[in-house]
Amino acid sequence: MEDDVRLIPLSALQHMLFCPRQCALIHLEQVWAENRYTAEGRILHERADHIGHERRRGIHTAMALPLASEELGLTGVADVVEFDESQQPTVVRPIEYKRGRPKAHRADEVQLCAQALCLEEMLDVSIEQGALFYGKTRRRKIVVFDDELRALTRRVIADTRTLFDNNRTPPAVYEAKRCNHCSLIDACQPQVMGKKRCLSRLLEPGIRRLLIADRVEPAGLPGPGSARPSGAVSSSEWNRSTDRDVAVSPRHRWRLAWPALRHPGQHAAHP
Ligand code: SF4
Repeated sequence: MEDDVRLIPLSALQHMLFCPRQCALIHLEQVWAENRYTAEGRILHERADHIGHERRRGIHTAMALPLASEELGLTGVADVVEFDESQQPTVVRPIEYKRGRPKAHRADEVQLCAQALCLEEMLDVSIEQGALFYGKTRRRKIVVFDDELRALTRRVIADTRTLFDNNRTPPAVYEAKRCNHCSLIDACQPQVMGKKRCLSRLLEPGIRRLLIADRVEPAGLPGPGSARPSGAVSSSEWNRSTDRDVAVSPRHRWRLAWPALRHPGQHAAHP
């Protein structure tokens, strides 16, 4: 792997399989919002994220173990890795905590398999299976790392690598079943951004030309280091946009500015 290749967080694979746009919003544009599902997951992981280890009945358990793969360009943390020293050779098993119950899609399994690929490279071992522990069922679901799951995982890693290299957020595609469970639905606005992409493409250059001609900065349109109009967006979201101006796409800046542009009377203008 080249020195300047951007590492892919293991969590990005799950986001990628759920929705490539969600993956790009979180990992390229650093947009984050919490809903009930992410809050439950975060609380579950806070309990599991304490680095440590213990040994019971011949099984050595490591908690919050840092992982990396140079070959695949991955980095992350495993909730738990078990080393069963009662067997020869020692059997290694990654265990991942998840909220809810087993899901119809394979995102959780792909993330776990990616952890196994990291461990295989780090420890020079072969790992046959791991487990997902679901908060709702309070049970382990054994996951076998067969050829099919390994191939799917490598495909998702390759797709995520392409997304990171292109550094472009894909357009929104509204799917009620998926989007209504997505914590980023307000930032993404899939029903508006999906259907009205053509309209916004036509409008945005025209509005910009008018603003440049009049040398007017619209209330709520963030420039680097600009002040936040009251009520336009949250201060953290504003700071993210203005501090890392280069990293935030023009479309996202317009989305941040949208409330102030729609209701100019309710938001203070820039000094
Ligand atoms: S709202 Fe839908 S399209 Fe937008 S990021 Fe979430 S899942 Fe993807």
